[in-house]
Amino acid sequence: MLIIDAHLDLAMNAMEWNRDLTADIDSIRARESGMQDKPDRGNNVVSLPELRKGRIGLVVATQIARVTENHRILPGWYSPEQAWAQTQGQLAWYRAMIDTGEMQQITDLTTLERHIALWEDEGVANDTKPVGFMLSLEGADSLIDLSYLERAYAYGLRAIGPAHYGPGRYAPGTGMEGPLTPLGVELLKEMDHLHMVLDITHLTDAGFWQAMAIYKGPVWASHHNCRALVNHQRQLDDDQLDALIERGAIIGSALDAWMLAPNWTRGKSTPSLCGVNLDRLADHIDHICQLAGNSNHAAIGSDLDGMFGSEQCPYDLSTIADLRKLEGILEKRGYTASDRTNIFHGNWLRFIRRAWKNN
Ligand SMILES: [Zn+2]
Repeated sequence: MLIIDAHLDLAMNAMEWNRDLTADIDSIRARESGMQDKPDRGNNVVSLPELRKGRIGLVVATQIARVTENHRILPGWYSPEQAWAQTQGQLAWYRAMIDTGEMQQITDLTTLERHIALWEDEGVANDTKPVGFMLSLEGADSLIDLSYLERAYAYGLRAIGPAHYGPGRYAPGTGMEGPLTPLGVELLKEMDHLHMVLDITHLTDAGFWQAMAIYKGPVWASHHNCRALVNHQRQLDDDQLDALIERGAIIGSALDAWMLAPNWTRGKSTPSLCGVNLDRLADHIDHICQLAGNSNHAAIGSDLDGMFGSEQCPYDLSTIADLRKLEGILEKRGYTASDRTNIFHGNWLRFIRRAWKNN
């Protein structure tokens, strides 16, 4: 079954972690052995061949670059211009992947339907198919001003999450309080004009409700789990989930261990000691389905290799291709074939088709 993963920081891995994602996973890991500069060295689980192996044929792939006051406390760039340039380097990598046939950018219904038809064609070997990607910006700091939004739309940016971790030029993010900034309110209006997708991931509670009230266009939560299961501001509470469901949003469940099971201590806990396996992911998906009363809103936004690796993701997932194991887990819990199709790709596809119908 085709899988759509709504959140992967592919270019960040290529450009900041210096990972050649066209290589096989073992050689990427081997190149990092002994490196100490980042906590997840040698533990990556994502590569383009592994995506193909798992039939993860379409992903939402990010550009990401924060503006920071102090790089030593919160890594980032000291000016919007530097952050913009970083995202343009990431874009150049995606374009190089397109040129070599490794990836295919999806920007409209025509490119989407052609790509889905290719992935559904069993006569073509999966390992020869390009991985499709829809471009999203995680944290809007790098948009120097709103004229850059139009430039970004022109090169295919189709979704934005205004916030990330900490303070932001457009919206405060995870770990913060308070509403969008005045710039953020303007950003949402411009995104509405362009019929872009608003990703509410990483917004504060105040920012979430403000954005839901202001934004008229399509809204999703690309990588987000449930506060009822793991109590943290980074997670969505049931009122937020209800409001998203009411609005036809899709919520992509993420695989960062601390978001899956309670009592995780970063750097100390291990997935096996904390019982973090793919069943915990199914718990969050199931919670969303129970709230909705159907399987039309839950999906996958794995965030794998999003600044963490196998040291901090389910122990029964050795690469991203193991997302397939979730199918059997959901089946055991009574999820029908059509429920599983919804969760693996049907919900994202329906959402994107609807969002782009009038573009
Ligand atoms: Zn994130």
